[in-house]
Amino acid sequence: MLLLAAATLPARAADPYASSRPMWNAPMKPFHIIQDIYYVGMGDTSAYLIFTLQGLILIDGGLPESAAPIEANIKAAGFDIKDVKIILNSHAHFDHAGGLAKLKRDSGARLIASEADKPILEKGHITYGPSAAREDDYPPVKVDRVVKDGDTVFLGGVTLTAHLTPGHTPGATSWTMPVADGRQDHNVVFFSSMTVGGQPLVNNKAYPEIADDFRASFAKLMKMDADIFLAPHGDQMNLAKKAATLQENTDKKVLNAPNPFIDKDEFHRVVANQQRQFEAALAREQAAAGEKK
Ligand SMILES: [Zn+2]
Repeated sequence: MLLLAAATLPARAADPYASSRPMWNAPMKPFHIIQDIYYVGMGDTSAYLIFTLQGLILIDGGLPESAAPIEANIKAAGFDIKDVKIILNSHAHFDHAGGLAKLKRDSGARLIASEADKPILEKGHITYGPSAAREDDYPPVKVDRVVKDGDTVFLGGVTLTAHLTPGHTPGATSWTMPVADGRQDHNVVFFSSMTVGGQPLVNNKAYPEIADDFRASFAKLMKMDADIFLAPHGDQMNLAKKAATLQENTDKKVLNAPNPFIDKDEFHRVVANQQRQFEAALAREQAAAGEKK
């Protein structure tokens, strides 16, 4: 009976991210990036911790299964999860928002996010694209404050500015923060991601303006300036190589070694590359839909 039933049922679409999840969630040692910014994320899916004199700010929570290891990383870096006062999110996909509910509960922090990503975060589900698969739903999390483009978040002398860069999700948000390293001033961008990620760009009923949003966000990001590029996925920023370089410099006690995270071209290089991929995906979809460009 069971065999017959299985054979006659239509094949269920497999979770498109089943094989990516363990790789994204690989263990990673936390490390100091620059000034008061620490990496506390996983091998590929990022999480950043910012120390301030009035508490900690956490950016992103990884996958649902990343929350516990992120908490362990926060502890290993010498901090207490209970000191996290504010949590921010790059975008409301399961691999960056999945751990937020637990991290918020365990810290008592306030979650600050954009208006357009708020309903996704509060449902733990997005209605379109590959991550709409039920296997990629995540524990819903309440948003305590909504930010608009240009709004700032302030804690203990640290100011982060929200830049709404919709496309990858309707409320994808890049955050910027000035830092000083010795005598040098730098600008950090916590990038929201601008990859298409297999999401429909043409006839997307859940997000009809997706292609226009992508184009406007690419233009906006290319006008922003940042010489420290911190991405939501390690593979967008050569995380493993940079972490290894920092470790090597520490081990060998190299004096005045250049910080591998400082690169004035990387941000625009990555955005331009993702824009080329977006334009190619859009052209393919328009051709397939028989539309004129
Ligand atoms: Zn995403």
